[in-house]
Amino acid sequence: MLDLPTTPPPPLLFDTIVIGAGAAGLFCAGVAGQLGLKVLLIDHSEKVAEKVRISGGGRANFTNRDIDPSAPHKHFLGDNPHFCRSALSRYTPQDFIALVQRHQIPFHEKHKGQLFGDRSAEDFINMLLAECVAGGVTRWQPCGVKAIRHSEAGYELDTDRGTVRSRKLVIATGGLSIPKIGATDFGYRVAKQFGVPVVEPRPALVPLTFDGNGWAPYAQLSGLALPVLIETGEKKSRQTFIEDLLFTHRGLSGPAVLQISSYWREGTPIRLNLAPEADLPAALTRAKATSRKLIANELAMLVPSRLADAWVQGDTQLQRPVNEATDRALATLATRLSQWDITPTGTEGYKKAEVTAGGVDTRALSSQTMESRQPGLYFIGEVVDVTGWLGGYNFQWAWSSGHACAQAMAQAIA
Ligand SMILES: Cc1cc2nc3c(=O)[nH]c(=O)nc-3n(C[C@H](O)[C@H](O)[C@H](O)COP(=O)(O)OP(=O)(O)OC[C@H]3O[C@@H](n4cnc5c(N)ncnc54)[C@H](O)[C@@H]3O)c2cc1C
Repeated sequence: MLDLPTTPPPPLLFDTIVIGAGAAGLFCAGVAGQLGLKVLLIDHSEKVAEKVRISGGGRANFTNRDIDPSAPHKHFLGDNPHFCRSALSRYTPQDFIALVQRHQIPFHEKHKGQLFGDRSAEDFINMLLAECVAGGVTRWQPCGVKAIRHSEAGYELDTDRGTVRSRKLVIATGGLSIPKIGATDFGYRVAKQFGVPVVEPRPALVPLTFDGNGWAPYAQLSGLALPVLIETGEKKSRQTFIEDLLFTHRGLSGPAVLQISSYWREGTPIRLNLAPEADLPAALTRAKATSRKLIANELAMLVPSRLADAWVQGDTQLQRPVNEATDRALATLATRLSQWDITPTGTEGYKKAEVTAGGVDTRALSSQTMESRQPGLYFIGEVVDVTGWLGGYNFQWAWSSGHACAQAMAQAIA
């Protein structure tokens, strides 16, 4: 047979290519497709939305009813916590709840406005995929992206499945947390390629560690959980949470610590009140006047007994009946329990962090559209320097930023 020279077929052309099929990318692709755009969604992982799958203990805390779009700084942090106001107010928790209801996914409220699926996070992944199908989205995975070029005509990508072109490009590749399920620094590299600044990323919603910092006496408390008041920061910027604390072998975890970790800065202390509901000085003074029990036993009425035992262990002044204790020893004990200042040595890092703080600098993005200074290049979800509290805030940011981006692209292309 005659061997004719072949010219390679021209690259496929899409209106938009979304890189990253996580929460933000899947949602954005589905909305954009349903608004009439020809969408390609690419992910290097075999499975989509791995973080949705493991979120909320496998049930996905998919949004939070307490989000106040007019005051986003209450629940979101970043160099400009007001950046997310526009997107959050144009696609609200109520909008996403309506979508969940249309897909007949049962859910419930657990704690402080947090909404969870009744069955499994898989319900939400199926919903996002169904929305993509409804939008006629083409999905390529696993598929790596090797290079991105920009010209007047738009974007050209070299991928494991060949070269593709599009008018718009959306980066939805998330942050650095949990690398073993596919997290990469891809988004930050693309930002840098196109001169879009990035705020130094750091692990957030992450356990804090106290290695070699006098932690040994507390390591025995590993597994103990109790409600605390936790705070960090200078007076003006102090952040406070009342949540559960969990002692671990290497330090502290639990919702209280995950929340405060997003605000904590290396080298600074955190302060804990281990009995936030008790008036410790008054309770101990009363005990001294009326009881002959050991201090540890009196304390065990105010805090868990394991904690009470550990607290008096290293101090002979406290290993005696409460009526024999000096006023000063009891006052010091009350202060140490209600104002326990400790300085973490670090965090458990990206392998345990639920999110990455920092990311693509919001000063280089439009808060209306998520488009960057680089025309036609958009960033959505966790890759952006917007970090939510624990409790469904990060998913709502993924939905709202994805929605704003999809709408803007559809308007620009119409
Ligand atoms: C254990 C855990 C539990 C959580 N629980 C909750 C919760 O209950 N509620 C809540 O609001 N938030 C929760 N979060 C946070 C939430 O999962 C994230 O904020 C959210 O998934 C961010 O969405 P995203 O689409 O921006 O990024 P991701 O969901 O991380 O998606 C990014 C996608 O990009 C892909 N990708 C990465 N690099 C590349 C590359 N180089 N090429 C191609 N594709 C790439 C990844 O494979 C992934 O599919 C949890 C996080 C963790 C780790």
